[in-house]
Amino acid sequence: MRILIVEDDPLLADGISRYLKQAGYAVDWAVSGDQADDWLAREHYDLAILDLGLPRMDGTEVLRKLRRRGQTVPVLILTARDALEDRVRGLDLGADDYVVKPIALAELEARIRALSRRGQYGGNPQIAHGPLLLDTTARQAWLNGEPLDLPAREWSVLEFLLPRAGRIVGKEQILQSLCGWNDEISINAVEAYISRLRAKLEPAGVHIRTVRGLGYLLEKADAQP
Ligand code: CA
Repeated sequence: MRILIVEDDPLLADGISRYLKQAGYAVDWAVSGDQADDWLAREHYDLAILDLGLPRMDGTEVLRKLRRRGQTVPVLILTARDALEDRVRGLDLGADDYVVKPIALAELEARIRALSRRGQYGGNPQIAHGPLLLDTTARQAWLNGEPLDLPAREWSVLEFLLPRAGRIVGKEQILQSLCGWNDEISINAVEAYISRLRAKLEPAGVHIRTVRGLGYLLEKADAQP
């Protein structure tokens, strides 16, 4: 899952970015409103964290332009405690949620998870797939009822594949969901995560097929014995 942080305070942006990367998200950081506007128009993001007071173009303008382009990417606004009016205006303009500064990182991440769930799984935090169960709130997986140990990146790949079961997913798509501008993840790494996931899931009958030249396909659960 790829997140754009739009924040002109480098300390705050760095803190958020580190925390989210540790949690397995791919993170890009835009320092100004016009940069954010440019990236949002060109790149795929799963969520944007948007400060309102920004150089060159303020956050509400970034949001207004985003929604005008018809982009539905969830937006979480970062706002100062006393800026209630801005907050209301942000929600009116199509923001999905807001977090008040100074922010608690754990709360921020919980809200991010809630928003991405809303977008991807119709609000249900648990995704079942044959013998596999993913709890996207707890970020915990179970296989045949047993807890499944998944490092952050493997978790992210699986979380990306699951709602797309039965469809071919390109390696580039997976890569995009895993990395921001400054991350050096290669296609080889994607292949490695897939092969580790396979080692864990195949014995239980969950198959990730390689579709030559195109990518991967997580077989639908009902196609399994
Ligand atoms: Ca600011």
